[in-house]
Amino acid sequence: MALAERPPGLSPQQQTTLLEGALPQEQGFARSLGQRGLTPPRRSPLRVLQLNLGRLCNMRCSHCHVDAGPHQGHTLMPDGVVEACISAIARLKPAVLDLTGGAPELHPRFRDLVLAARSQGCQVIDRCNLTVLLLPALHDLAPFLASQQVEIVASLPQPDQDATDGQRGEGTWEASIQALRLLNGLGYGQGDPTRQLTLMSNPAGTQLQQLSAWDQRRWAERLEQLAGVRFDRLIGLNNMPIARFLQQLQRDGHVNCYLALLERAFNPAALEGLMCRDTLSVAPDGRLHDCDFNQMLEMPEASGATIATISREQLLDGAIHWGNHCYGCTAGQGSSCGGATA
Ligand code: SF4
Ligand code: SF4
Repeated sequence: MALAERPPGLSPQQQTTLLEGALPQEQGFARSLGQRGLTPPRRSPLRVLQLNLGRLCNMRCSHCHVDAGPHQGHTLMPDGVVEACISAIARLKPAVLDLTGGAPELHPRFRDLVLAARSQGCQVIDRCNLTVLLLPALHDLAPFLASQQVEIVASLPQPDQDATDGQRGEGTWEASIQALRLLNGLGYGQGDPTRQLTLMSNPAGTQLQQLSAWDQRRWAERLEQLAGVRFDRLIGLNNMPIARFLQQLQRDGHVNCYLALLERAFNPAALEGLMCRDTLSVAPDGRLHDCDFNQMLEMPEASGATIATISREQLLDGAIHWGNHCYGCTAGQGSSCGGATA
């Protein structure tokens, strides 16, 4: 189907209505914490500044929670906001700058942001779809990432061709392996702390992520045998009931049962590692959110500031904006941008 013929996605308001109506009120996320005798966590000191550079992507995966794709070029972060982010790196002094999208590398100021963060001593994470590294126009991107000691967190749904191509499109497996070989050749995935290569998996459809130490060994052996490629760490995410995946659930009539599955699998221990506790997520227009999932639902961070004005003090001990999608982060082993670690 041509892009222009695709049905429009659900608006943030439609998504929120679907999610909040999917469970009885007493099982709503925030209320259920109280019923379980748990205090809703508040913000800790800022550690990670996560920038969403826009939804432009060279791929269009079925599980994408940001509705990214080649049709989203108009969503790129404008220059003025990029400059405000560069000032904020110096002002807020996060330990980590986390660059995401879309494919963040497609933003024309991507490298400026990496260099600004490295000059302030920040660790930099690039959330990379791997295939972007093979675009002819970005032929020097991988060596640049290596030279700046950027950690690469790369999505690879499963260590086999069928599952990967099924979720991300035909040819993705071959391209991902080629990109992993390129990164291995630059020293990534060999245990060097300055060339960290993390793989991020996600399960098929409505299954929950369940990684064990055995899975990391299985992935390592399989990728070595199949393709001779290596990585340093495996993390996993549940599929978040947002954007394209929520639309798929709605089409299949599975919204309520997926939310019920996540709610039944609630794990109080996962509250400790929630990304929203120490991360600030910046939208392409400079607005602030507790995480990129809240960003997609247009649920703002409590201070009401923007990236141009926010201070560390305003964030400290702030309330976090909860919704039923938060069950996606607390189900089973727990799942957020940090992911469950095998
Ligand atoms: S999941 Fe990642 S690679 Fe796939 S469309 Fe979304 S942003 Fe692009
Ligand atoms: S979606 Fe996850 S990371 Fe975001 S506020 Fe909810 S629990 Fe926190």
